[in-house]
Amino acid sequence: VKPLAIAIVSGGMDSVTLAHLLHDEGWALHLLAVNYGQRHIKELEYARRCADRLGAQFTVADLSNLVSLLGGSALTDRSIDVPLGHYAEPSMAATVVPNRNAIMLSIAYGLAVSIGAERVATGVHAGDHPIYPDCRPRFIAMFEAMERLATEGYSNPQLHLYTPFVKIGKQDICAIGTELDVPYEETWSCYQGGDVHCGRCGTCVERKEAFQLAGVPDPTVYADGVR
Ligand SMILES: [Zn+2]
Repeated sequence: VKPLAIAIVSGGMDSVTLAHLLHDEGWALHLLAVNYGQRHIKELEYARRCADRLGAQFTVADLSNLVSLLGGSALTDRSIDVPLGHYAEPSMAATVVPNRNAIMLSIAYGLAVSIGAERVATGVHAGDHPIYPDCRPRFIAMFEAMERLATEGYSNPQLHLYTPFVKIGKQDICAIGTELDVPYEETWSCYQGGDVHCGRCGTCVERKEAFQLAGVPDPTVYADGVR
C-alpha cells in the first residue's frame, strides 16, 4: 500500500509541479483545492485535470461564503483592481487574502487526520516570501509544530508538512517540473481569470519570468502577446 499524501493544489505551476513530484516519488495522492471566492476560480479546473492525470483523489473545499469575512483583497473583492506589474512590488500586497495559507493548511491537516495521511504538502516558494508572510520557512516550521500538538494522538505518527520548494525560486520549480514532464499548458496562474492569461498582472509576470530564467519554452497564450 502506498503512503498517502495530501497536496494543496490551486491549479498553478507550483502546486501542479508539487503534485507531479509527489506522484513521481510514489505517494498515493489526495489533491485539495480551495474555493475562497477567488476571481480566478477557473484555476480549480486545472487542479481537477491534474488530479485526473495522476489518478489522484480530488476535493474542493468550498469556503466561498467566507468571502465577506476575508475582504480587502483584489483576489476576492471585485471592487479592487488586480494590480499590474512585477510580483515583488509593494502594490502586490493587494493580492494578499487574509490568513489564506494558514486557513488552507488547517483544512488540509483536518483532512490528513481523518484519512490517516503521512504528508501535507504545499507549493510555497522563496519568491512568495516578500509579499506573503505565511509562506516563510519560519511560518511553515511553526505551523507544523502547532499541528503536531493540535492533532497528537489522532494523526498518523508520520504526519508532517512537506514544502520542497520553500527555499527555491519559481524558475527552479519550472526546471524540476520540466524534468517531470509537467504539462504547463495545463496550469493556470493569472489572477484576472480571463479567457487567456493577461500577461500583465503580478502572477503572469512571474510566470513569464520563471520560464525565461529556467530556459524552458513557455507554452502559455498571453493576451498581450508577449512571452
Ligand atoms: Zn494575469
